Amino acid sequence: MDSWSLAGIVTANQAGFDRGEGSAYHCAPMLTSRLPGRVEPYKLAAHAEHLEGLVALGDLPRLAEEIGAQQGEARVWLDFAIDAQGRRVIRGHLEAELQLPCRRCLSPLAELVESDFLLGMVTSDALAADLPSTHEPVLVENEQLNLLAVVEDELILSLPQVVYHDEAECAVSRDQLTSGAGADSSDSPSESPFDVLKRLKGKT
Ligand SMILES: [Zn+2]
Repeated sequence: MDSWSLAGIVTANQAGFDRGEGSAYHCAPMLTSRLPGRVEPYKLAAHAEHLEGLVALGDLPRLAEEIGAQQGEARVWLDFAIDAQGRRVIRGHLEAELQLPCRRCLSPLAELVESDFLLGMVTSDALAADLPSTHEPVLVENEQLNLLAVVEDELILSLPQVVYHDEAECAVSRDQLTSGAGADSSDSPSESPFDVLKRLKGKT
């Protein structure tokens, strides 16, 4: 469990193992260890623990249902605490590069999804109503919390509604859409976007 230790990571950053510029998340410390799947959140809150680590996107089936199978990892940082009102809370940040289907051509495009969130632990759905609107309820059963499910929920909530390729990179041009020429255009593939989607789905 001490593999979450930040010490080694910070040292590595200070030693100049930078991932270079141009990355949207170059300022975040590099994570190398896995986030634990299951924790005892009350104990973590009582000790004001910090957890951080990677979550394999391939382990998140509900996310795959939303946007198709994913590769790579989400990076997650979590601070457990008991706040001034005595609530047990988790303040967190996550980020992941996801492959989202372009609304125009349905081919995947890479999109960095990030979320900052504040969770309030509750032991029943009824108690969730007592939380202020700033807190998302997270259900803790038998003093256990499935962190994978928490991360998956947050990722799904953070998905952008609609994504498009840049026009130059999209398989369907704006002209094709506005003129309705679509599949008849000589320089476009003959398959329809729905064939593309079927093919993508068949792959996974
Ligand atoms: Zn596109």
